[in-house]
Amino acid sequence: MTRGSAVIKIGTSSVTNEVGGVDYDVLVNVAADVVALRDDGWTVVVVTSGAITAGWADVGGGRRRPTDAATLQAVSAVGQPLLMHAWRNAFQEAGATVGQVLLAPLDFSHRGQYLHARGTLEALADLHVIAIVNENDAVADEEIRFGDNDRLAALVANLVGATHLVLLTDTDGLLTADPRLDPTATLIEEVSAIDATIEELAGRSRSGVGSGGMSSKLAAARMATWSGVTTVIAAARVAHPVKRALGAGPGAGTTFHARTDRLPARKAWIAFAVASRGTLEINQGAMQALEHHGRSLLRVGVVGYDGGFVEGDAVEIVGPDREVLAKGLVRVSADSFADGDDVVVHRDDLVLLRRP
Ligand code: GLU
Repeated sequence: MTRGSAVIKIGTSSVTNEVGGVDYDVLVNVAADVVALRDDGWTVVVVTSGAITAGWADVGGGRRRPTDAATLQAVSAVGQPLLMHAWRNAFQEAGATVGQVLLAPLDFSHRGQYLHARGTLEALADLHVIAIVNENDAVADEEIRFGDNDRLAALVANLVGATHLVLLTDTDGLLTADPRLDPTATLIEEVSAIDATIEELAGRSRSGVGSGGMSSKLAAARMATWSGVTTVIAAARVAHPVKRALGAGPGAGTTFHARTDRLPARKAWIAFAVASRGTLEINQGAMQALEHHGRSLLRVGVVGYDGGFVEGDAVEIVGPDREVLAKGLVRVSADSFADGDDVVVHRDDLVLLRRP
């Protein structure tokens, strides 16, 4: 019997210590909670960051961290086994075996590959093995890397049909202001809709070593809650970090409630997982037909397009105001746009992105 399923993501600033090595005590705390959850009937997947930082601590000899992509990718290759070694030991202490799954954006873009990754994660759960996921930094293309694991964790939550996503980090959650600048900043405990005010609060904060920051966590929370996944941003360096975050008691973190009108899995995949290969600009009438009448996009409504998309690719759809209002899989290629099917994006392949 499964009671729920959770993806637990832990950021670089929490996985590593001040000299960049793996902070084993944090891993032990997380592992103990994850195993307790699993023993309680939950399916749990861990998404870890920290490979680049741990790798540089090992191979960098105290020099400044490099910034070029090729070196960082190589450094990640050094760090991944260090990180896995630590996770393996931490989980062994808690009584569980781990398996490593490294994913790149392309694994999410190709529907076949996506379903394949899902199959592997399910098989690991069937074996009672805890999957430890990270981005496959060493081979991910510089242009299309996830870069931060918040987005990756949200995609994994969607992939495995999780009920909960926990983003463990170096703050207590989303605060009303930056506590370094405003001592009266308080924790926002619950968010039912991610609107402009909330996005503004998240600002452009970044922590020292991770690449995420609050705005990338918010983007992940948006993605996850649209897919029906309740999302919690919470502190990693506390006793029982996972239990505390999922317990949702006072001060436990910021909980973003899952939307009740969740997107079906395939639509969530179109909206968030597939990279867009072009843009279609549509007129007012077509915008109305899409947003208010649930229609397909017809060629007559398209006033312009760009990008080298081919049939089946994802494209963004912008209205006369140039704001992206939808994303969908296009039925015609850019180079034969004038002579293809009249239906350019079928309603079944279309996701509206300006949902209130
Ligand atoms: N894949 C990166 C690493 O393991 C993590 C990126 C991030 O979320 O900061 O170093």
